[in-house]
Amino acid sequence: MSTTRQKLIVVLGAGVHGLHAALALLEAGYAVTILSKHLPGDSNPNYCSPWSVTNWASDVSVVDPETQQWYLDAYKYWADLSTDGDDTNGAGVSRRTYISYCEEANPSLLAAGASAFWYSDAVLSFKILPQESLPPGVKFGYSFGSFCLNSPKYLSYIQTRILALSGTIIRTALPTGQNLASVLQTARKTLQSNGLRDDVFAFVNATGLGARELVGDETMFPIRSHAIFLKGEAKGMSDRLEAGLSNMVAMGGALPISYVSPRVGEGISFLGGYMEEGVWSTDPSPVIVERLLDRAKLLAPELLDANGNFEVVSVGLGLRPHRASGVRVEIERVQGKDGEEVAVVHDYGHGHGGFIKAIGSAKKVVELVDKLGNE
Ligand SMILES: Cc1cc2nc3c(=O)[nH]c(=O)nc-3n(C[C@H](O)[C@H](O)[C@H](O)COP(=O)(O)OP(=O)(O)OC[C@H]3O[C@@H](n4cnc5c(N)ncnc54)[C@H](O)[C@@H]3O)c2cc1C
Repeated sequence: MSTTRQKLIVVLGAGVHGLHAALALLEAGYAVTILSKHLPGDSNPNYCSPWSVTNWASDVSVVDPETQQWYLDAYKYWADLSTDGDDTNGAGVSRRTYISYCEEANPSLLAAGASAFWYSDAVLSFKILPQESLPPGVKFGYSFGSFCLNSPKYLSYIQTRILALSGTIIRTALPTGQNLASVLQTARKTLQSNGLRDDVFAFVNATGLGARELVGDETMFPIRSHAIFLKGEAKGMSDRLEAGLSNMVAMGGALPISYVSPRVGEGISFLGGYMEEGVWSTDPSPVIVERLLDRAKLLAPELLDANGNFEVVSVGLGLRPHRASGVRVEIERVQGKDGEEVAVVHDYGHGHGGFIKAIGSAKKVVELVDKLGNE
């Protein structure tokens, strides 16, 4: 009986995009090896995925049908993983109500109500909050049934599924300051030096911010966000969008939003917000930390101590890998030094909502790899 050898795909990067792409490729019948500088369990501001608060939430700016479909893919995927409610299968996915408060609401939003939100019919129990239930200073609010993820736990869970399907994971830092052809050649040598097969059918590039140097994509930049961990678990997920651009200017251009979400089962909550575009520094800003601690009082009063303060457990930072020219999920053919053409499927630049988009974009990666096989 003859057997066909599975085609080998090498995935660069082990953030949520590399891991989901690897899992989807294994499930589609490919052999997969991941090469990555950081792996689940690591903590580094440049390794964005573990820093994600990971709430399923969307804003009105998610308008193109493909991205909307990716959001819906994640909603269904996490609903299936959390059928029993709280994290019962070790995936780190729990169901909670999401509440969003806006300190400003234009008349057209007030008039449109639920119809202003593209996903209001697709999620559970979407409601516009009655005016009389809104906290002081809030002009508009809504809530719906959603999911909150314990991101580090979720990444480990996906990694476990990859290993169970015989995927291989190697820690390695690929060289920067070279062209993509040289990077791919180094990747191939890494396979050889680890005694692995090197007959690569295609590469998947899911290196997040690393793509700026690995691919020479200068449209990549960070959107920096603080991650403050507070003692106690908030009841649900919530956010607060401040009024007017004046606050944005006062905070050095940072998007004036704050949000709180429980890390279910860990006795802590995640407080984040004030997204800063193009800021590479990994030193926390005391001004932003103070401001977030103040804004969060309205969002999670149940976490305040007898003196009306939060107990801060730790403060960290994550850099979202954003691409000015939009998400890049497409095939590139790279001419190797030996004249051989190598196919690379890019999957990077997801910035905001990058965790949510990983399931849908992984499906697209598989479609693109399948397409290469049919050419
Ligand atoms: C505070 C915060 C809150 C967030 N909240 C949400 C949320 O609620 N919902 C949501 O959907 N998204 C959220 N995000 C955004 C989301 O976390 C990111 O969009 C997503 O994690 C990006 O994943 P990625 O796999 O593309 O990149 P990363 O997780 O950064 O992974 C990149 C991978 O490439 C590897 N790599 C890079 N360079 C090299 C190299 N030279 N050699 C080898 N390997 C390399 C890295 O080691 C890493 O494994 C949040 C982000 C932050 C910071």
